[in-house]
Amino acid sequence: MTKNLVNEELNKEVSSARPSEPLKTIPVEKTKKKPTSASNIVNAFRQKMANATTPIEMQSIGKTVEFREISTSEQKEMSKIAMQSNSRSDLMYCAMLNLINKLATEKGFDIRNYTEFERILVTLNLQQMNKLNPEIKYTCPKCGRENAYTLDTAKMLREFSKTYRPDKAFEIESGIRKFTFTTGWPKVASVEDFFKNYYRKYDNSGKAIKESMDNLSQIEYITMFVKSVTVSDVDDPEDSMTADVEDMTYGERVQIVDCLPQSVMFDDSTGVVSKIIAEYVEPMNKVFKHRDCAYCGAEQEGQVANLTDFLGG
Ligand SMILES: [Zn+2]
Repeated sequence: MTKNLVNEELNKEVSSARPSEPLKTIPVEKTKKKPTSASNIVNAFRQKMANATTPIEMQSIGKTVEFREISTSEQKEMSKIAMQSNSRSDLMYCAMLNLINKLATEKGFDIRNYTEFERILVTLNLQQMNKLNPEIKYTCPKCGRENAYTLDTAKMLREFSKTYRPDKAFEIESGIRKFTFTTGWPKVASVEDFFKNYYRKYDNSGKAIKESMDNLSQIEYITMFVKSVTVSDVDDPEDSMTADVEDMTYGERVQIVDCLPQSVMFDDSTGVVSKIIAEYVEPMNKVFKHRDCAYCGAEQEGQVANLTDFLGG
């Protein structure tokens, strides 16, 4: 899927070195070039590394962006943040976005302007391109044995690419009202806003509270797939109102969701949240699902470690 431009560059150099016409004699310059200092070599090296890029196809928007490889110092920095952030996903998420922007060679590129789909796609591509294949370890709760396996990022990338869904509308009737939800992948900037608010609210709460809040945060994350809501009167369709939830702040979005009927949002089979889970979240979860226990075959709940953590390992 990704092309190795480094090899292409090398091939170009080799072919251009092959003379197509007889060599001309070049007069030797009298003044000798100064020996290159070590700092010049360091700078030249840096430049050389910056020029070795790999294109990543953003399939959802039909655009290709070039990314360079992660340097040793950047990898060290990410590991440091991972250790210090103490699994605070807002800090890791933020650090990851900044790193993606640093690696992109396009001027003014900001992953925050794209959707979560592209963010995950770029992350998986970077993972593969930098040969970061984290080892996943977990203890099986059924047989108690330790499982360890290496992530197959190439396979995950192939499977994740297939989960792309364009925006979709759902209509749900409730009493005298009809609700039309437009759903789609949320913008990265909104997800970042969500993480920051989530941790601001619950940073000082105890561990038990945090765990139950995690479930609530998952629901809040899912509601971010709502881009707009239109409420209209079943008997009088002209009487309608639309809220463009996508462009709202975290606080405003929560207020809109909070005033919608509970059943319209959360009914197990007809609510919009269950439709979003079926359309976007479940296919994604399948890609990142834990492998079942290698010893007793027990099904493993949950997914592999948060994608934003992969650079910290
Ligand atoms: Zn087991």
